[in-house]
Amino acid sequence: MVCRIDERTVSIALCDPVRCVQAGCSAITCKGAGVPSNQQLFERSAAVIPGGVNSSIRAFRAVGGTPFLVARGSGAYLYDVEGRQMIDLVQSYGAIILGHAHPAVTAAITAAAVDGTSYGAPTPREMKLAEAISDRVPSCERVRLMNSGTEATSTAVRLARGATGRKRIVTFHGNFHGATDALLVAGGSGVATLGLPGTAGVPEETVANTWVVPYNVVPHLDNDVAAVIVEPVAANMGVVAPVPGFLEGLRAECDRVGALLIFDEVITGFRIGLGGAQAKYDIRPDITCFGKVIGGGLPIGAVGGSADVMNHLSPLGPVFHAGTLAGNPLATAAGLAALNELVPDVYIELSARARRLSALLRDACASNGIVAQFPVVGTLIGMHFGPGLQNNAPQNFVDAKTTDEALYAKVFHAMLSAGVAMAPGAYEALFVGLSHDDAVINRIGEIAHEALQWNSH
Ligand SMILES: *Cc1c(COP(=O)(O)O)cnc(C)c1O
Repeated sequence: MVCRIDERTVSIALCDPVRCVQAGCSAITCKGAGVPSNQQLFERSAAVIPGGVNSSIRAFRAVGGTPFLVARGSGAYLYDVEGRQMIDLVQSYGAIILGHAHPAVTAAITAAAVDGTSYGAPTPREMKLAEAISDRVPSCERVRLMNSGTEATSTAVRLARGATGRKRIVTFHGNFHGATDALLVAGGSGVATLGLPGTAGVPEETVANTWVVPYNVVPHLDNDVAAVIVEPVAANMGVVAPVPGFLEGLRAECDRVGALLIFDEVITGFRIGLGGAQAKYDIRPDITCFGKVIGGGLPIGAVGGSADVMNHLSPLGPVFHAGTLAGNPLATAAGLAALNELVPDVYIELSARARRLSALLRDACASNGIVAQFPVVGTLIGMHFGPGLQNNAPQNFVDAKTTDEALYAKVFHAMLSAGVAMAPGAYEALFVGLSHDDAVINRIGEIAHEALQWNSH
């Protein structure tokens, strides 16, 4: 066959779909030439990677169908291996805020890479990133960098237990803190539930000291509690705002019994504002977990807090923490480049875009007879489908679970076919970033209007 990129004759085996797409080769040509499809590549992946994915939600189990494999991203767009372009509202589940392959981030990573990718020794860049976080988030007098949000929450739990000498951790039903064993707890609704494992592979003993309580209700604590860990804006059960008094109440109740308050700001940090949810709601947590945005799209996590608490971490204190790649040169370069672009005005703009997209999606659904709401908290947009809440915003996991998952699956596929990628699960947020300019936002509205018409026929 003839390669459309350079007009050379090549064998099909030598045609690299990723390079073809990058070079702008049209999908139709490639497919005609026998380049593997999403389906074929996903099956090949699944033969070696369990379920074909490295993070469960990516497998499309909640919405059905076969995932697309991404060849590249640029700004608001993703391109799959078949050369299809789609507007991306996932943005790496919030890790990307400037848009894919932002020139400042790409340049920073490239410049860092030529000086080596990991040393196992301190660097000025990790100092600068820690300073950048501490400057913008006053509760974080000290910051320790690590490699993921999961590592941040597990370190925060260990730190809280080590600093207080207590065992009990309180967590909220429907909050998500990554794949941290002590926090993978199945919560019952209503009253406080003594931890039962939320997944196979976590022994009951591991979560025996984890309590799960309903979101947006201040629990009554006792002197066994080391820490309360909370998503200050819940963004893993749709998007659920804290009701007035909830975060204040948690702060007061923690103070009353001498427990530490941990804000998991892995999503909200540098996403809903420079100071995160703690600035928006004016609450000072003892420990904050970060991830996602602070790595500019590279693997990162961080724990911040008062000097008092943080000095319990090794080597100053007895609470162990270590990481071969922690404070990684590329991740810190990317994170610094991203934070550099994030000035206060950005969040005013992103909030306006979030409200506009929410309204456009609501209208598109309404005009096609789909009952849906898209609650906005700051720059985050949630989704709730079906009449379960009679148009009230969800306040907790029980509310969130009334969403019509089957309806969402139809919406998801209609939108994807029409060129808009949303998360393949009904409980994720829609992530609007700096690359979703007015034209892109309006285009999503138009696409939704047409794509959701199946329902009005
Ligand atoms: C994504 C997320 C995590 C886990 O972060 P990873 O980097 O995926 O390990 C923890 N907490 C919250 C609130 C998150 O959204």
